[in-house]
Amino acid sequence: VSDLMTFDEFITHWAADRPERIAMREEERVFTYAELEDRTARVASLLLAAGLQKGDRIAWIGKNSDLYFTLFFGAARAGIVMAPVGWRLSPAEWAYIANDTQAKILFTGPGFEGAAAQLAGKLDHDPRIIGADEARALIGSTPRGAFAPSRADDAVLQLYTSGTTGNPKGAVLSNRNLFALRKNSADADLAYTRWEDDEAVLVAMPCAHIGGTGLGIMALVAGLPGIVLAEFNPDGVFDAVEQHGVTRFFIVPAALQMLLMHPRCASVDYSRLKYILYGAAPIPLDLLRQCIKMFGAQFIQAYGMTETTGTICMLPPEDHDPEGNKRMRSAGKALPGVEIRILGPDGEAVPVGEVGEVVTRSSNNMLGYWNLPDATARTMTESGWIHTGDAGYLDEDGYLFIHDRMKDLIITGGENVYPAEVESAIFGHPAVQEVAVIGIPDAKWGETVKAVVVAKPGMTVDEADIIAWARDRIAAFKAPRSIDVIAALPRNASGKILRKDLRAPYWEGYERMVN
Ligand code: ATP
Ligand code: MG
Repeated sequence: VSDLMTFDEFITHWAADRPERIAMREEERVFTYAELEDRTARVASLLLAAGLQKGDRIAWIGKNSDLYFTLFFGAARAGIVMAPVGWRLSPAEWAYIANDTQAKILFTGPGFEGAAAQLAGKLDHDPRIIGADEARALIGSTPRGAFAPSRADDAVLQLYTSGTTGNPKGAVLSNRNLFALRKNSADADLAYTRWEDDEAVLVAMPCAHIGGTGLGIMALVAGLPGIVLAEFNPDGVFDAVEQHGVTRFFIVPAALQMLLMHPRCASVDYSRLKYILYGAAPIPLDLLRQCIKMFGAQFIQAYGMTETTGTICMLPPEDHDPEGNKRMRSAGKALPGVEIRILGPDGEAVPVGEVGEVVTRSSNNMLGYWNLPDATARTMTESGWIHTGDAGYLDEDGYLFIHDRMKDLIITGGENVYPAEVESAIFGHPAVQEVAVIGIPDAKWGETVKAVVVAKPGMTVDEADIIAWARDRIAAFKAPRSIDVIAALPRNASGKILRKDLRAPYWEGYERMVN
């Protein structure tokens, strides 16, 4: 199995090895590996019959669906590139991404039949639009034919970055990129990257992100059932754990908090659940501690980005000791086959313990951004290093500590303040539901620290009290100088806090120096 390197190889392997095993389940729809093989072969045939060629794009607007994975895996077998569009985005943003892909066919998922009308007049090309019912019928009626399978380095997936720092960019990923994690971790044989035959994987995050689509790929890689949730909801996760034997899932910190706050949370039977993977954004330490107490599963933090096909660092279960283990603040160690370095402003590696920009090299690194040669050249060096734009440091044992994005760093009176650390300190305050920390312009200090807070329902937030709370926990220069209270934090479709939007009103008329 460790030699398999393409969708075509994995699908045909498992179909021969375990034809009757469940490959995928979404609500009442279930299909086996034999059926997955047959359906994806038909998808490849129908796309080729529609005139698409290797290297062409198809797009998907919709929630997670077994249909999405069938189309994606089938296209990938023939080297046609799937570009899922985040369904939570606005129609204008759908159009931006759809136009960027220049997809020949735009598939709309169940419930998204209206997307075609919402896109009318916004598209600059003329894709064929195919709804979910028509797509299912086509897959059923198209006979399978011969096709040339895609090769390891052919593009198969185009995932858009979350657009946290600017416009989303299309990261083009190959078969090799998507299966590198599997190959590297199998070579290392880490306990938590080893799969047992009775496991099942839950796809709980949106398929337009690697934390969603990637979990569907993990199920395929291990020949296990992928349980698909159309969209994240606590009941869906709890049901999947209790009824479908889900042993692992990945969710973002904001979703973990939703699980924790749900009334069912304490009474769910977690006995089959082995691992909860979390990441994609900094996690407040208090939240992580509460989760460790609540769920009878082992925790693994994942750090990575769309451009690195997701995870490049993992914080293993043994470093999740809630009794004050300092490693709990770490994003973990580089996975086997992944190089991580920390660069200073001059582009040279800095000594252990010093903060700089995280750069990484591995076979997880994307082929490049779609149609953005300048951005690709800025992000990827000729020798294959990706500049993550994240600030962080490595400790003496190779653990990576992510501070924040370079662009969110606050420099106040010459001191560096990383918002995530301040947020983590304030998050524990009993009246605080959510908090985001930004730098605002200041004549004397350059920037000062501001916390924007959402109060817990029925609670009032007292500015002086929060500032005092922060000063008790972190250095005085890191504590906020001022607090604003708002109803909800601006987040993008991935649930990430949009600090650039929060900053905007305070910076009107000012120029912010970005490091
Ligand atoms: P854009 O690149 O369009 O601005 P984005 O960077 O949010 O958006 P993603 O590729 O979805 O798009 O996210 C990758 C980023 O998420 C990383 O660069 C890092 O800032 C953050 N991140 C990922 N994992 C972690 C983690 N475990 N802890 C802290 N931050 C994380
Ligand atoms: Mg990014």
